[in-house]
Amino acid sequence: MVEAQQLRERGWRLVVVYCRISFDVHRRDAHGVEDQTRHCNRIAAENKMIVIHRFIDNGMSASKAGVVRPDFEAMLAALDKGATSTGYPIDGVVCVADDRLYRDEHTYQRFSRSFKAFPGRSYADELGPHDLYNEGSAQRGLMGAAAAQAESKKQQQRAKLNHRARAERGEPVSSRRPFGWNSDKYTLHPGESEVVRQGVQGLLAGKTLTAVTHEFTASGFTSTLGNPWQSQTVKWVLRNPRICGYRRLGGELVVGADGKPVVGQWEAIVSPDDWLAVAELLDKKRHPGGWDRSGTRSSPNSGYLLTGLVRCGGLTPEGRICGVQMHGAPAGNSYVYRCRTVTNGGCGRVSSQGPAVDDLITERALGLLTLRSPAPWPDEHRLETVRQRTSMLQEQWYAEEIDDTDYFSQLRCEEAQLKSLVKERKSWAWKQSSAGPPEMWSGMTLGERREALIRLIEVVAVLPGKKGSRTFDPARIVIVPRQNEASVA
Ligand SMILES: [Zn+2]
Repeated sequence: MVEAQQLRERGWRLVVVYCRISFDVHRRDAHGVEDQTRHCNRIAAENKMIVIHRFIDNGMSASKAGVVRPDFEAMLAALDKGATSTGYPIDGVVCVADDRLYRDEHTYQRFSRSFKAFPGRSYADELGPHDLYNEGSAQRGLMGAAAAQAESKKQQQRAKLNHRARAERGEPVSSRRPFGWNSDKYTLHPGESEVVRQGVQGLLAGKTLTAVTHEFTASGFTSTLGNPWQSQTVKWVLRNPRICGYRRLGGELVVGADGKPVVGQWEAIVSPDDWLAVAELLDKKRHPGGWDRSGTRSSPNSGYLLTGLVRCGGLTPEGRICGVQMHGAPAGNSYVYRCRTVTNGGCGRVSSQGPAVDDLITERALGLLTLRSPAPWPDEHRLETVRQRTSMLQEQWYAEEIDDTDYFSQLRCEEAQLKSLVKERKSWAWKQSSAGPPEMWSGMTLGERREALIRLIEVVAVLPGKKGSRTFDPARIVIVPRQNEASVA
């Protein structure tokens, strides 16, 4: 009591909370009291208020005639008297929404009269503080045409609150199945969760995002929406705190009263430490231009021509196609493309002479260029970025991290951009059609050539050679051209 008085002198308001739980089996209101209390505490804290008493009516309607709400009546009595039964002065009332208090004019008038029995009281709900002394009931949207609108707005607010409340209780919020879990959203999907776990460990062990994305693809699982994996979506899955049991809402981790992240009731795939390390790693790699094919941004004119394109066609000890990106490495006075070591996710068994592979691929690529596109469009990456963003958006919406309004308005933007880029690309291709590709090639830098190849070729697979053979066998090199290239010409 003394403490409350001291706080009151420092400008805090002593308020009572009113909670009403409607009896409605369809809305699964079992957690209603707990939720409403929590929200009220939040509202109070935001408005420099201290809750001194809670009035709670369970299974009561606010408008049905003949229904007596004992705590509502008790609150009116306390407001009239000016103090709670324990003697605290009442400076105001907090509830989640005013329809908890009243839904008809008569009840509103009763509440209003008791509330105004003392001057200077405060009222606040989820929509903020309201001055009930200067606000007529008509303005509060209780009657007339405004009522319907106000009601639907309140319902949206409540849906949002319910979302947060569930997150704070550690319940899964998304109504759709997240990748890695079964449709109950609590238990782990054995196959998918293993892919996620290995993705985290792979990144922590130094694998590129592209390599990990490839593993996601190789697992045979798609995203829960059925989309093929892209580095953006894989990154988003692995950056999601859900995998360690945490939850992000509105860009922030959901924390409990103790300031620590709320631990969800679903099974976690990795430890919080591992998740944090991976999230930091992925944030570090983020840059404004988006990801390139290899998941890293190297200087365009250094390195090897086929970096990011050559993949290993060898077999792992388990008999799978290895498939990891091979990297260029100096060998003698030349260079080779080599599979990664087993600890880095490769089979460590396949390598091929660099210059010979480069020449072969260049020759084939020039053939493709002659056949198809007059010259590569320099803005292809912009198109790819928009495509990736669009599918990311879809995934986020699916996981209910963004709402419908945001989703559809952003989607419209992306689609408009996509359309204009495709148009740009077409007109560019027309303009270039007079320049012969081989002539252009000789004037291009290594980086430009690499970009041109990436646009033409999906992947170059290097099959294992005969043991001990030193001669270059072109049959070991398999080129998969890009399918969409045809649409450029
Ligand atoms: Zn390999």
